[in-house]
Amino acid sequence: MHVPAGKTILVTGIVQGVGFRPFVYGLADRHGVRGDVRNTSEGVRIRAFGEREAIERFAADLERRPPPLAAIQAVRTEDVPYEDRDAFVIRPSEDAAARQVAVTPDAALCADCRRELLDPADRRYRYPFISCTHCGPRYSVLLDVPYDRPNITLKNFPLCDACRAEYEDPTDRRHHAQTDCCPACGPQLWCAGSNGQRLADDPIGAAARALARGQIVAVKGLGGFHLACDARNNDAVERLRARKDREEKPFAVMVRDKDAAQQLAELPAYAGELFASPASPIVIARKVHPEGLAPAVAPGNDFYGLMVPYTPLHVLLLAEGPDALVMTSANRTDEPIAIDNHEALERLDGIADAFLLHDRPISIRVDDSVVLATGGGPTLLRRARGYVPAGIETGRNVDGIAGFGPMLKNTLAVGRGTVVYPGQHVGDLNNRLALDMFDEVYAHLQAILGVSVRRIACDLHPDYPTTRLAAETGLETVAVQHHHAHLAGLMAEHRVYDRGIGLAFDGTGYGPDDQLWGGEVFTFDPASFERAFHLEYVPLPGGEQAIREPWRMALAHLVHHRLDWTPFVENELADRAPQAASVVKLLQSDIPRVHTSGMGRLFDAVASLTGLCHTASYEGQAPMRLEGALTDAGEPYGFELEGGRIRTGRLVADVLRDVEAGVAPGIISGRFHNTIVALALEACRRVRAAEGLTRVFLSGGCFVNAFLRTRIPGRLAADGFEVFAHRLLPPNDGGVSTGQVLVAAAREG
Ligand code: ZN
Ligand code: ZN
Ligand code: FE
Repeated sequence: MHVPAGKTILVTGIVQGVGFRPFVYGLADRHGVRGDVRNTSEGVRIRAFGEREAIERFAADLERRPPPLAAIQAVRTEDVPYEDRDAFVIRPSEDAAARQVAVTPDAALCADCRRELLDPADRRYRYPFISCTHCGPRYSVLLDVPYDRPNITLKNFPLCDACRAEYEDPTDRRHHAQTDCCPACGPQLWCAGSNGQRLADDPIGAAARALARGQIVAVKGLGGFHLACDARNNDAVERLRARKDREEKPFAVMVRDKDAAQQLAELPAYAGELFASPASPIVIARKVHPEGLAPAVAPGNDFYGLMVPYTPLHVLLLAEGPDALVMTSANRTDEPIAIDNHEALERLDGIADAFLLHDRPISIRVDDSVVLATGGGPTLLRRARGYVPAGIETGRNVDGIAGFGPMLKNTLAVGRGTVVYPGQHVGDLNNRLALDMFDEVYAHLQAILGVSVRRIACDLHPDYPTTRLAAETGLETVAVQHHHAHLAGLMAEHRVYDRGIGLAFDGTGYGPDDQLWGGEVFTFDPASFERAFHLEYVPLPGGEQAIREPWRMALAHLVHHRLDWTPFVENELADRAPQAASVVKLLQSDIPRVHTSGMGRLFDAVASLTGLCHTASYEGQAPMRLEGALTDAGEPYGFELEGGRIRTGRLVADVLRDVEAGVAPGIISGRFHNTIVALALEACRRVRAAEGLTRVFLSGGCFVNAFLRTRIPGRLAADGFEVFAHRLLPPNDGGVSTGQVLVAAAREG
């Protein structure tokens, strides 16, 4: 039976720049549907005319098999009168409208493009800029919206006839692929020596040979330059450490594929999906055997950070050069990644022996993202390439509110409508280049979102540079306590805003009493918080220095709890005895000093007491050592909850006793970890008994610890609590900016 019908279909979500309209065109063709498709302010709007049944099948397929990079939020259909159309057509974007539509993150090379890249018969054989509607750069080439060729960094590469034909062919995978190009019309790659002089050679071959010789090559990637060297050549890796001025922090390593990664680290099943995903992040997992790569890759660390080639350039480099490459952000330690050729040549002078350069500009710095794959599900540690600029739907009005983030691991976030858009990892705001990057990301996000910020949420800390930057805008500012922001961001992820219990187990964050908080049990919602319990305050001897030198925290705990510190100093601190003596003297004096309730600082103290780590050359090194050493999760040590405090005197005394009795650090670590689980459970029970709250939110940098991340939720759930942990944001300070936006929105009221 022939029943002519009409429908409008509105598809919302990430539907722009992902090959959605060609996909719709193909479907319409297959089902014999006529009409049109266009981008609107809400998403993609389709008008479909034809047989009723055909339209229904067409609409069902839209949801069933969307293009790989699309993320459909909703499909809404409405019946309209039948119109007699000749064909199905793609209509151009409406400029103002398209601005509202989500821009996609950068996406790793797809399987089809990979096949073409490696096919000697293909016209893009070994062409390092191959891409299509299913893959390639997006955010990192975007200059403005809408996402169209004139608004991306390929604007100066006009399409050749062959590429234009693909671009205009509605049935082609490259139909309206804004990044479409080929060796004849697109960007070019070249290799340069350390002086910047272009080598007249096959660039991939030249770079591959330099790497095989143990040289350090700066490689222009998707969101910035990497410094690469052979990850199995210890001399090369040591040289890179020396030149980059990076002591022990592990380097990320790129290997050929998932199987190669599996040889090196214990990968959970989902790690394979992460490697194959468009985001293709660095995955951190426990080493299988410590000698898989050069020892200097991750010295004294139980984990490797691994990734697989995510651009065509990487695929070629790994195929033709060494099979495992250190790939670390090209910068001096703490500075942002370099992005343009001149900048790289200048800033990496004396670091890189050669440069693999190209003429496709990078519009904005985006580092590799990092996902932790130890225990439980994946946990984001650094949210950048492949994730940004995807937004987080909060269900609350956050329009025009920005969060400027914390001081370390900074991200900023901008709200539009009910969605918060966290920007990419900026890093530690302790140098001018990082502050410049902060400004770039802030301007870029506002431009591509079409938002002008009217209200800025900042950290409560009066001396952070972001506080000054916010004041300079002249806009209204709101100060948000660091851990309140951590927890409010987590609420936003789950869209659960009823008052709950918050465990903020963190390094340090400024408290309204001028002390450094970080072992906090709150009752809270986005508008306000109360502190139910906190780790007992201990002095922070030497301020920032105490954070870099865990032995200072060990002494702080010993002196504070009136325990005998002399055996510890004699056994463990012999080579810094005079410093230790002066720290003890300082701790015993009446000189006013800052105190901390930071959980990270307690981990530092125990890591040092057990002899595992006395000084940290990067943030979190001591807690990572302690976690890495854990062999057996034995009986918890003692602790007390009283007067809003979690007393740690017995805990530290018990640790000290075990150390002196010669108990192995792995056992002490296990008992210590179990103590933290036990005190978390006990604190939540007390709050539940007092206030009837049963939802617990877990945030803060300590939740990157696999033991805490799995055991605390497990114990809480078994005790009848409903537990919420991070899925979209990092539990560390990378998630703070989103929470700041939510708190500022809640206070607006
Ligand atoms: Zn592709
Ligand atoms: Zn071309
Ligand atoms: Fe924090």
